[in-house]
Amino acid sequence: MALERTFSIIKPDAVAKNVIGAIYNRFETAGLRIVASKMLHLSKEQAEGFYAEHKERPFFGALVDFMTSGPVMVQVLEGENAVVKNREIMGATNPADAAAGTLRSDYAASIDENAVHGSDAPESAAREIAYFFSDEEICPRTR
Ligand code: ADP
Ligand code: MG
Repeated sequence: MALERTFSIIKPDAVAKNVIGAIYNRFETAGLRIVASKMLHLSKEQAEGFYAEHKERPFFGALVDFMTSGPVMVQVLEGENAVVKNREIMGATNPADAAAGTLRSDYAASIDENAVHGSDAPESAAREIAYFFSDEEICPRTR
């Protein structure tokens, strides 16, 4: 299978827990390569735009408040089947339902503060990558 890219966020709760490196280790151990990465403190506008698909949901305001509550790490992950692989590493949206050994099982406290974001399909991955990264900021491996 061809290499695929997905978009990932380490959310403010996980950055506050000081587990950026632990989470990067999970990606790398699973064979995903970090091909772009930066730390950001999202503005309200950035968070609202990123989660626009959820703007009619009752939790939207709380989600935006949470996502702007502290810095996040945003990254592009590359590998075979990267979208699905990252969703497997993350676990279910609600950590109470997340399988043992997944990021959300290990690091998330609740559905509101669930440690990580990952694109749900190749199309959303392309849109989300472009929302945060220019082409020049993405560094595919040359060796
Ligand atoms: P995922 O992040 O697993 O793709 P969704 O796209 O459905 O999940 O939702 C985006 C984010 O919105 C979730 O990660 C979570 O932070 C928040 N969220 C989703 N559903 C709820 C809910 N019922 N109550 C509170 N927050 C929620
Ligand atoms: Mg989603």
